[in-house]
Amino acid sequence: MSAATPSACDAHPVDAWQHSLANVVRNVDTLLGMLGLEAAAVDAVAAASTGFALRVPREYVARMRHGDPHDPLLAQVLPRGAERVATAGFVTDPLAETDAEDGVLHKYHGRMLLVTTGACAVHCRYCFRRHFPYAEQQALRGEWHAALAAVAADHDVRELIISGGDPLTLSDRRLGTLLDGLAGIDHLRRLRIHTRLPVVIPSRLTDALLARINATGRPWTLVIHANHAQEIDASVRAALARARAAGAVLLNQAVLLRGVNDTVAAQAALCEALGDAGVVPYYLHLLDPVAGAAHFATDEADALALMRALRARLPGWLVPRLAREIPGEPAKTVLA
Ligand SMILES: *Cc1c(COP(=O)(O)O)cnc(C)c1O
Ligand code: SF4
Repeated sequence: MSAATPSACDAHPVDAWQHSLANVVRNVDTLLGMLGLEAAAVDAVAAASTGFALRVPREYVARMRHGDPHDPLLAQVLPRGAERVATAGFVTDPLAETDAEDGVLHKYHGRMLLVTTGACAVHCRYCFRRHFPYAEQQALRGEWHAALAAVAADHDVRELIISGGDPLTLSDRRLGTLLDGLAGIDHLRRLRIHTRLPVVIPSRLTDALLARINATGRPWTLVIHANHAQEIDASVRAALARARAAGAVLLNQAVLLRGVNDTVAAQAALCEALGDAGVVPYYLHLLDPVAGAAHFATDEADALALMRALRARLPGWLVPRLAREIPGEPAKTVLA
């Protein structure tokens, strides 16, 4: 540690990932300028008119194809006029998560889900949390006393799901405080971290962070969130290799999105790219019907046909479960 002692002019050293997180693209014209696209050609609108800010890390923009109005990464982050069209059945809180506002814990049997922060590195236009009031807030839980007390008090909790927002937007110091507290809870056997950072800012998976997670002494799973093979470049593969070398089990969850990954070719390529990176495709979620995202919706019958086609051409372990979340159910509903 002494080698890293900061000098007087370096009193607040900033890791590369923190720089990336602070320097995201927030403006539609900037984004389109980087890609050589005209707003009218892609139905782009000011993010303010949609009620959900634009937010894209530059290393994610770098993986978009220049001049391609149909780029599958651009489609996930670009505010479009279609978002402002009200659609029956698409609502602001599709999962009825009214209690998530103050970061309370959700429960499935044996698991507890902790909303650690409302902040994300990227704003995904299809996100069911796009209308949550906490979206631009930082950490929700002070020094984690309430969260740790809740986990400690419930002896049925074997696995803690550290979620958000995106938990890896938190500093190592804040995460470390949480992890240290969790390490002292004997009945907690496993940790799981749900995050999109390994895809959008892969430098977030530092050796220091991986060491802190391992210091809990628990098996841990990293559930990443990649929707398209084009998201998985050499920097992402290298970050995932570091996590694997540190002992993490790697899973992916994706959302089935019209115009992004709703073809057999796109899904097969995604699953193969994940397999090559040592990641098991876990869930493929049907879109939650959130207001502003109706243009991403796919037909359920088409999704089932897609799954049959995937099963015919991929190894079994590379085929995700097609799932949907139904409010109030004790688990996700697996359709295929
Ligand atoms: C998805 C989810 C989980 C985790 O479910 P698994 O099927 O174990 O991945 C836990 N709690 C909540 C509230 C969830 O939405
Ligand atoms: S990173 Fe996850 S929680 Fe954040 S906006 Fe994207 S889908 Fe939503």
